[in-house]
Amino acid sequence: MTDKKVPLVEVKGLKKYFPINKGVLQRKVGDVKAVDDVSFTIYKGETLGIVGESGSGKSTLGRMVLKLIDATEGEIIFNEQNFAKIKNSEVRKLRRDMQMVFQDPYASLNPRMSIGELLEEPLLVHKTISSKEGRKEKAFELLEKVGLPREAYSKYPHEFSGGQRQRIGIARALSTNPEFIIGDEPVSALDVSVQSQVLNLMQDLQKEFDLTYMFIAHDLSVVKHISDRVAVMYLGRIVEIADKDILYKKPLHPYTQALISAVPSTDVTIKREKVALTGELPSPANPPKGCAFHTRCPHVHDRCKVERPILTQQGEGQMTACHLYTTEAAAAKAE
Ligand code: SF4
Repeated sequence: MTDKKVPLVEVKGLKKYFPINKGVLQRKVGDVKAVDDVSFTIYKGETLGIVGESGSGKSTLGRMVLKLIDATEGEIIFNEQNFAKIKNSEVRKLRRDMQMVFQDPYASLNPRMSIGELLEEPLLVHKTISSKEGRKEKAFELLEKVGLPREAYSKYPHEFSGGQRQRIGIARALSTNPEFIIGDEPVSALDVSVQSQVLNLMQDLQKEFDLTYMFIAHDLSVVKHISDRVAVMYLGRIVEIADKDILYKKPLHPYTQALISAVPSTDVTIKREKVALTGELPSPANPPKGCAFHTRCPHVHDRCKVERPILTQQGEGQMTACHLYTTEAAAAKAE
């Protein structure tokens, strides 16, 4: 990443509520707050890791940022363009600049299409290359970039291993020359040995093509490898966001501390006690009052059960949402 930070993606107060309807008349009785007031910036050339358990809202967040689903509230600004204000005709151009690599490459690749067809399809849809020959050449070039042989062009997805299929998914995402790629758990379905190969490939491609990544994972050890900064999500909210090195050395939020204590450390100078998380993740349809983490937090105190902590700066490069680090006066001022 370059020294000068230029914002590429700005997310402000983003919410996604799914209505809960009940009864014969399907009356709305509440909302599942999948994403609830999330704000962050992703700078050009960086990788922002987004980590959380299943049900934390991280995938819904990724889909909103790519405009695959609409937000209930809030703003997304991409390259200074506000999603809420762009015309439908401009959405296609936006789709070209923003791509996604999915968790399950087999489900995301049409099994009836050859690899050549899969790689050329986005070029046809976006009218990027008009000649058949040009598209074929581009497909060969993409295969080479992701470390697959030319022979792969006429084969079908089922003829490849999971890791190779993910390489094809990455090649397809790259075909439109995007600036921004969201990886939605792109290595979660792969063996550990293959995971690092795919992560290394993504890092090499990031350097070569000046890509910016948002990398979603449920596992902090995966995002550690690839991220510059990491945001930790819990029940639809960001509870901590920090530069990677700071977060792994000095996590502040008790939830981050618990997640990190489960990651084996290769640094012998860092001694961590294992923090066991008790209880299940509460339902986003009925989140606990106050701090949503209070039902599982080893440091819970009275204030946590009534007052929701807000994300506040805790020194350079780190923000956390926890009453252990805020005074009531600071919280009132921030509101
Ligand atoms: Fe734990 Fe309270 Fe901090 Fe929430 S606000 S993480 S319950 S100490």
